[in-house]
Amino acid sequence: MKGLFIASALALVGSCANTRYSTKIENIKNNIQLSDSTTVMRYAQTITSSELKTHLYAFASEDFQGRKTGELGQKKASDFIKNFYISQGITSPINDSLYFQTIPKNFLPNNINASENVLAFIKGSENPEEVLIISAHLDHLGLENDEIFKGADDNGSGTTALMEMAQAFKMAEKDGFSPKRSILFLHLTGEEIGLYGCEYYIANPIFDLKKTIANLNIDMIGRVDNKHKNNPDYLYVIGADRISKELHFISEKVNEAYFNINLDYTYNNEEDPNKFYFRSDHYKFALKDIPVIFYFNGEHEDYHKVSDTPDKIDYDLLTRRTQLIFATAWHLANQENPLIRNENI
Ligand SMILES: [Zn+2]
Repeated sequence: MKGLFIASALALVGSCANTRYSTKIENIKNNIQLSDSTTVMRYAQTITSSELKTHLYAFASEDFQGRKTGELGQKKASDFIKNFYISQGITSPINDSLYFQTIPKNFLPNNINASENVLAFIKGSENPEEVLIISAHLDHLGLENDEIFKGADDNGSGTTALMEMAQAFKMAEKDGFSPKRSILFLHLTGEEIGLYGCEYYIANPIFDLKKTIANLNIDMIGRVDNKHKNNPDYLYVIGADRISKELHFISEKVNEAYFNINLDYTYNNEEDPNKFYFRSDHYKFALKDIPVIFYFNGEHEDYHKVSDTPDKIDYDLLTRRTQLIFATAWHLANQENPLIRNENI
């Protein structure tokens, strides 16, 4: 009898505390206001499948020899990205014309040559010192027995998504719609050999990591996995709620308002054996307590094979997914207040 009494008293305390917490969560969710809807969509629609396709065919071509970190093909790929930004009038944050953050040989594993991250930048109009980082790795696996790993999905898809988003933000800026906060487009090297490019950026950040408001990382968003063969309008979203539940709610709200893509949270489950949360560059930002979202289409039969080629990309899906990430970035760069972290709820 006594035991039961204690148990129910505890249950009562527990439920009161929970109510307060869930009310706060509900308030965070309800306080998110999407504004500039028509403006956001106007620029999102400048991201087109034909441009993504053109860039991706070039980026995953034989010319770049599989983009192995530190090799000639990877350098060519870095130049390709840099030349795109120059052609668009999109500058670098390091200094207008210095797009490369060089990673010295001694930072990298033994047999790997020096390499570079590629950086492009749109300056915020109200809080330029606060920065949103949108990232994708540019390197891949190189060659094996003269066969080229083209890495069209991994990560030509993420690379070209960044290029198209930067172009859209630049067009908006020219029309007088600068983001309130700055946006860094960060093309990372050394991912496939162990997240080295991101590790280097974290050790040598261009912007104060404490003022880095979030990281949206894209690694493989151009294909459909087996699970979604019959229902391909989906995207795995990983990690969005772990540091800031508000970020997760923003991601959902933007998607519901403009796109209605099926956001799949299977891999966000901490028990999931694939542990994708730990397997791409965003994880390094999460370790620094920066809220992250990892966008991913899941593995497929061509993952890390020479058959990951640009003809197998679904360009309409790649476009919708890129537009979703663009609209999410737009909201994050422009919303009134910084993201609320879970520890402050
Ligand atoms: Zn990858």
